[in-house]
Amino acid sequence: MSKIVPNSHNKNWTIVNTLPKLVHYSHDLKFICSVAILLNVMKARYHAMTGAVAASALIPVLGVNSAVFWVASILIDGDHYIDYVYRCRFRDFSIKRMFRFHELLFKEVKARHFLSLNLLHTVEVLIFLYIAGEITSWLWLQAIFWGMLFHVATDLVYMYVKGSLFRRALSIVEYAVRWDNIKRHGCRPEEIYSSVLAQLAVTVKPSQKKAGMLTKNDSNENLQ
Ligand SMILES: [Zn+2]
Repeated sequence: MSKIVPNSHNKNWTIVNTLPKLVHYSHDLKFICSVAILLNVMKARYHAMTGAVAASALIPVLGVNSAVFWVASILIDGDHYIDYVYRCRFRDFSIKRMFRFHELLFKEVKARHFLSLNLLHTVEVLIFLYIAGEITSWLWLQAIFWGMLFHVATDLVYMYVKGSLFRRALSIVEYAVRWDNIKRHGCRPEEIYSSVLAQLAVTVKPSQKKAGMLTKNDSNENLQ
C-alpha cells in the first residue's frame, strides 16, 4: 500500500495514519475506554444521570415517588457542604470554596492517614431511614432510603476503581474508632485537613479574608 504523504490537500492524512495504531492498540484502548467510562459515570455530575436511569426503571414500583428517589440520590452529596463547614470550624460558608476544598482534598485521598466521613453516606443514617420507612410505610420515605442507598453503592464502586475504598468511613462509629486509633499511633489525621485549608486560604482574595474566610494561620490550627 502506498504511503500517504501529508499535505494541505490531504485532510484525511492524520486519520488514515493514526488508524493502524488505533487498531494495533485497540485491545488496550477498549480497556482504557471502559475504565474511563466507568469513572465518568461514577463522578458526581453523573449521579444525576445514573439516578435518573434507576428512577425511571423504578417507576412501576415507586410511581411518582421515583422522582423522590432521584432527588435523594443527588441531594445526599449535600453532606460535603456540612463536612467543609465543620472542617473550617464554621468560619466559612462559601459553596464555591467548598467545591475547591473537596477538589484539593481529593488529591490527598491516598495519603497514609487520610480518613473522611460524609454523614449522609453512613450506615447509621441509612439504617435510621430504613427503619423509619418500614414503621411509617411511607413510600416517599422508602424512596429516599433507596435513592440514597443507590448513590452510596455507586460511590463505593467509584472508590473501589480509584483504589480508595477504605478512605471514607462508612459508619460514624467506624470513623470515631479509626480516627482514635490513628492518633494513638502518634499520627495526626487532622493535619491533612488543616493543610488543605491552608492551601485554600492561600488562594483566597484579600477581600474574602476580610469577609471572614480562614487565614493561612487560622487554617493551620488543629482541626478534628
Ligand atoms: Zn456521594
